[in-house]
Amino acid sequence: MDSSASQFSETQEYPVAVVGGAAAGTFFVAEWLRRGAVGPVLWLTGDDPVGVAYGTRCEAHLLNVPAAKMGAFADRPQDFLDRLRERAPSEPLQGTEFVPRRLYGDYLRHLQASARAHPSLHCLPLSLADIEPAGTAARPSWRLRSVEGRVFQARRVVFATGLAEASVRGDDDPTVIRDPWRWFNGPASGRKLPADHEEILVLGSGLTAMDVIIGLREAGFGGRIRALSRSGRWSERHAAAEPLTDAERASLVAALLERPTCRGYLATLRRHAGRLPWRAVIDALRPQSQALWSALDTTEQRRFLRHLFPIWNRHRHRAPPRTAESIDRDAALSLERGRWHPADRRAALVFDCRGLGLATGRRWPRCLTTLAERGVLAASALGIGFVSRQPDSIDLLGALRFGAEFECTAVPELRAQAAAIIDGWTRTA
Ligand SMILES: Cc1cc2nc3c(=O)[nH]c(=O)nc-3n(C[C@H](O)[C@H](O)[C@H](O)COP(=O)(O)OP(=O)(O)OC[C@H]3O[C@@H](n4cnc5c(N)ncnc54)[C@H](O)[C@@H]3O)c2cc1C
Repeated sequence: MDSSASQFSETQEYPVAVVGGAAAGTFFVAEWLRRGAVGPVLWLTGDDPVGVAYGTRCEAHLLNVPAAKMGAFADRPQDFLDRLRERAPSEPLQGTEFVPRRLYGDYLRHLQASARAHPSLHCLPLSLADIEPAGTAARPSWRLRSVEGRVFQARRVVFATGLAEASVRGDDDPTVIRDPWRWFNGPASGRKLPADHEEILVLGSGLTAMDVIIGLREAGFGGRIRALSRSGRWSERHAAAEPLTDAERASLVAALLERPTCRGYLATLRRHAGRLPWRAVIDALRPQSQALWSALDTTEQRRFLRHLFPIWNRHRHRAPPRTAESIDRDAALSLERGRWHPADRRAALVFDCRGLGLATGRRWPRCLTTLAERGVLAASALGIGFVSRQPDSIDLLGALRFGAEFECTAVPELRAQAAAIIDGWTRTA
């Protein structure tokens, strides 16, 4: 990904720099250019063009959001579906379908190629190493230094760098795959499967665990797979549910906000899910998730992450029906409830699918910690993400906001965040 147009000079000040090249960065750049960008945009994409979610080549790894809701633009959620239909007009595709994530990777590459053709975009496959102030308090500006040693200056910077590296858990045992997506998306030469008489252990029973199991079968592993998780239950599956009426939704939200504690939320949800379709109850909360999250105090938010987050994820991030059916059909697969002891080395390979670690500490890259030390970013109250103290000149997209925000990583949230930042920046340009 390199648009090395000679009209860009490294001594100029870019009005906007975007750091991060996958879904969130692409949404921001595409939206910014669509609105008729003012001046050149610098885009440092890093080395991963589509991100771990959409880098999979396995056709059985499906989106968990219907195609009609996955468009890159807040005002055009159908854009991805339109693109799929344009590419294959003879294959009728319903907006409710869960298509392979690989197709979403293709969509991101298509948006990136269109953006790169724009004369205002300076796109470079570089990684940001550090950032320091280069302006004044009245007119902030930033000097950006890439890992490769190139230096740029930008008036405003948006970070779309996804999840930071997870805190290292455990030892460096090569039979324990701590990052299953890197294993799957990386070169095939690095993926040696055990023999079929051996066993694979999968830690977790959420969407990642289900995809890993399906991916292992697609890759040809025919042996026994044992899954182990705290709940001992797979993620719930998608199924049609009549949405709540406006009155039902309003009464549900009001009842939740009456008792903003984990216990209160759980009791209210159980009560409503007892008389209404539970999927519709969960889905009705999505537009209100930030209000509900903010209504919890910090102690309750911590409690939620410790005790309710896995339950929430199981019901909220549901498996596409085809994924759930593959899991049901797998006769050599079992799921147990329990915790893994690292000393248990019966399995030839262990895949750690216990989540992206959103709720636990992460090792942040230097460019972010530098900004936090300078007081430009504040750690969220839970200490697991950041809030910008200078949103007019530095802002954040996606998982970097976790803690201060709750639902912040899926496509519908990312494109809304990008549009909101651009609204603010163009108003004050
Ligand atoms: C397996 C999986 C499946 C998912 N499925 C769905 C789904 O079906 N629907 C949905 O809505 N959401 C889904 N999600 C949520 C998903 O997180 C988001 O949709 C999206 O992929 C997040 O993208 P991102 O750009 O914020 O971060 P990432 O995908 O993590 O990308 C980060 C980018 O930043 C770059 N970068 C990192 N550090 C630097 C640096 N220092 N300098 C420059 N660049 C840097 C990287 O190269 C990369 O380009 C899924 C997530 C996972 C893990």
